[in-house]
Amino acid sequence: MIDVLVVGAGPAGAVAAQVLAERGARVLVVDRARFPRHKLCGDALNPGAVALLRRIGVADAIERDALRIEGMRLTGRGVSICARYPASCYGLSITRRDLDTRLVEAAARAGARIQEGVVVRGPLVETREGRPTVRGVVLAIAGGKPLRVAAPLTIAADGRRSALAVSLGLTHHPKRPRRWAIGGYFEGVDGLEALGEMHVRRDHYLGVAPVPGGLANACVVTADRRGFADPARRLVETVQRDALLGPRFARARLVTAPTTLGPLAVDGGAAGTKGLLLAGDAAGFVDPMTGDGLRLAFASALLAAETALEALDGQRDAAHERLTVRRQAMLANKLRFNRAVRALVASPWGVRMGEYSAVLAPRLFEHLILFAGDVP
Ligand SMILES: Cc1cc2nc3c(=O)[nH]c(=O)nc-3n(C[C@H](O)[C@H](O)[C@H](O)COP(=O)(O)OP(=O)(O)OC[C@H]3O[C@@H](n4cnc5c(N)ncnc54)[C@H](O)[C@@H]3O)c2cc1C
Repeated sequence: MIDVLVVGAGPAGAVAAQVLAERGARVLVVDRARFPRHKLCGDALNPGAVALLRRIGVADAIERDALRIEGMRLTGRGVSICARYPASCYGLSITRRDLDTRLVEAAARAGARIQEGVVVRGPLVETREGRPTVRGVVLAIAGGKPLRVAAPLTIAADGRRSALAVSLGLTHHPKRPRRWAIGGYFEGVDGLEALGEMHVRRDHYLGVAPVPGGLANACVVTADRRGFADPARRLVETVQRDALLGPRFARARLVTAPTTLGPLAVDGGAAGTKGLLLAGDAAGFVDPMTGDGLRLAFASALLAAETALEALDGQRDAAHERLTVRRQAMLANKLRFNRAVRALVASPWGVRMGEYSAVLAPRLFEHLILFAGDVP
């Protein structure tokens, strides 16, 4: 018997599962991956994300595998702004391989059952009077018939391309912006500090962060997919041709096969449907530029878990509508800010305006960086 089926054991799914299991719910988590596994990400937890991890009691375990991040550096042509976090808080950098594994372990310790290597094909839907109710999921079985798994309540935390949210029409990739990412790890990068770095250029931006083991994570995000057939070359050329980063990457060596991802943006509205709640990127994803995807994943997972617990307590009707309202109240301002940032960096004109404004009003940009970092 299960009370809640969680699809996806990434940050959102693992946190939702941990909280539900700690409160006595019988939770089954399925993920197509086997942990530990790599995931393309900038690997930076902002101070707001660290605060949420502390709230659920896993921050110490995660910090053991992480580096402290004391602020963010933002650069454009002719401008470089460094915003330090207040002394009371810090961010962390940790590979997603380690972060996600620690979170899955915490969920399992709390009592959630984790099944890895299980691919969900779509929702198990019952339609009455034209209205769908999700009754569980359909699993893909290699070489066999799809398997139905029934559950009173399902949480979709299966990321940007959610098999559940997309097939129910709850989310979709917008026509614009369409951007892709390439990311990989380098050794021998000069000038790394305990800072996350965001380098905004006219037709792309680059995130750089130190990660444990003396490596640097570098990700490029762009709408221009030329050279994506050879992502290693494209990534190395982009960092080495950059006027600011080139000298720092001159003797650097890419030590992992880079991964690509895209299109990145996913739009959504409702946070679920009857029998289904959405958490993390499965509910929508604006853009990696603001570096707060993990904070949003944790925050939305906590909201989904709280709503699921109420549903188990008897308030089953309209649970998804309550979750939509809560997300709106808690996350809408930040998501609006993220969309504004995304729109600004989407055009060379916007980037130029941003550069001029940063030269004229650096303090304003420091405040914006701290707002992006969800400094508690
Ligand atoms: C280039 C880039 C850089 C980023 N950098 C940062 C950063 O530095 N800091 C930050 O805070 N955020 C960053 N983000 C955002 C962050 O990576 C996401 O917001 C975060 O991963 C969302 O977590 P999630 O649990 O919702 O989804 P995911 O991390 O995508 O996890 C989803 C899980 O579901 C599983 N799954 C998917 N489909 C199925 C299926 N059909 N059946 C079973 N299991 C399935 C997957 O295996 C995965 O484990 C970045 C994003 C990108 C693209």
